[in-house]
Amino acid sequence: MTEPRMDPIPGLPPATPSEPRVLRPRRAAPADVVRPTRAEINLGHLRHNYHELCAKLVRPKETEVWGVLKADGYGHGAPAVARTLERAKMPGICVALLEEGVELREAGIELPILVMGGYLGRSLEPILEMVHRRLTPVVYSLEQLERLRSVVRSASAPALQVHLKVDTGMARLGANIEDLDTLVRLIVESPELELAGLMSHFACADDGEAAALESPLHRFHQAVEIVRKYGSVPRLHMANTAAMLRAEAAQFDIVRPGIGLFGTSRWLPSLKPVMRVRSEVVHLRKLPKGAGVGYGSLWRAGQESLIATVPVGYADGVPRTWGERGSVLIRGRRVPIVGAVSMDMLTVDVTEIPGAAVTDEVVLLGAQRGLLGEGEITAEEIARGSGTIPWEILTNISRRVPRFYREP
Ligand SMILES: *Cc1c(COP(=O)(O)O)cnc(C)c1O
Repeated sequence: MTEPRMDPIPGLPPATPSEPRVLRPRRAAPADVVRPTRAEINLGHLRHNYHELCAKLVRPKETEVWGVLKADGYGHGAPAVARTLERAKMPGICVALLEEGVELREAGIELPILVMGGYLGRSLEPILEMVHRRLTPVVYSLEQLERLRSVVRSASAPALQVHLKVDTGMARLGANIEDLDTLVRLIVESPELELAGLMSHFACADDGEAAALESPLHRFHQAVEIVRKYGSVPRLHMANTAAMLRAEAAQFDIVRPGIGLFGTSRWLPSLKPVMRVRSEVVHLRKLPKGAGVGYGSLWRAGQESLIATVPVGYADGVPRTWGERGSVLIRGRRVPIVGAVSMDMLTVDVTEIPGAAVTDEVVLLGAQRGLLGEGEITAEEIARGSGTIPWEILTNISRRVPRFYREP
């Protein structure tokens, strides 16, 4: 990958630094941004959460925590997150896409990487890439196995480890239990392939009755018995964050927490949010009683009001629906978002904030301590208030928002 180079303008320093960057940033890089809107990623909290999750293992010597870093590490920046966790001795990583695995290899990550999505494209090149990059595919169909096998054979590559996925009620990816026998036999009989794992995924781990975990667990045990007939049992894994915290029986050999690493799970209150999104007041205006604010004048001043403009909008990941009832923190106090959230900006009512001024910090997600108090706005709160889930709030923080990594 090469940086686009621009001809230098005479008298000005070149537009691109002469030192090549190791990584081409896919989003606004901290040094490039003028706007005060940014996401701060607290790597200390990330490590804390990893250790908190490790402390929840019932068999800490036998069970490994493989962090799920799909969707750019839930919006936190997968390379930096992976590097931090690799140094913290995390033993493996899961991603959804082959592309995400390649990105981590390009960033120098050496850990085993499990590519869970199973979509390998229509040509053979992606599979070759998989082999060369030492990425481990999740498989669940005969067709996938045949293609993997023939690529490994034609490349004379060593046996490729695969993790076989079985469906236990999610009905999304994974082989039916009835087909498992055939798949396992094909893998075991292929010198090109090595059955390294058997996995599944819960449909109802996050809410509802803990009993909802029982029937998938039962089916998974049936799958294990089928695999056992062909010799030794590979590494077993099934649990996301909620399942590993709610059901000890779901921990097996590997657990796959995603959201918990980023500090958001109601099943473990000691987790700490990793991302904080902040901006600044860039403009203040006094409005007379009755004046409207924003597109459609959805909000009108019920009294003489002081309105602050904040340069962050739905294109940065603030849900429009959050604007209807949400708030932000300024000087440590909550102030309501008023009027419609627009693409690049939103407006807040700071009439009740003594001393409110341009350049005041505005926190959209996370904690703030200020002259008037302290507060916190969590991804759960925003999700609840805008009719979605915390996963979507975090992954929607867009590439326009630069990530600043903090080592406390
Ligand atoms: C996303 C995902 C996880 C992680 O789920 P969290 O609820 O974020 O912990 C685990 N396994 C699979 C298959 C996933 O797709």
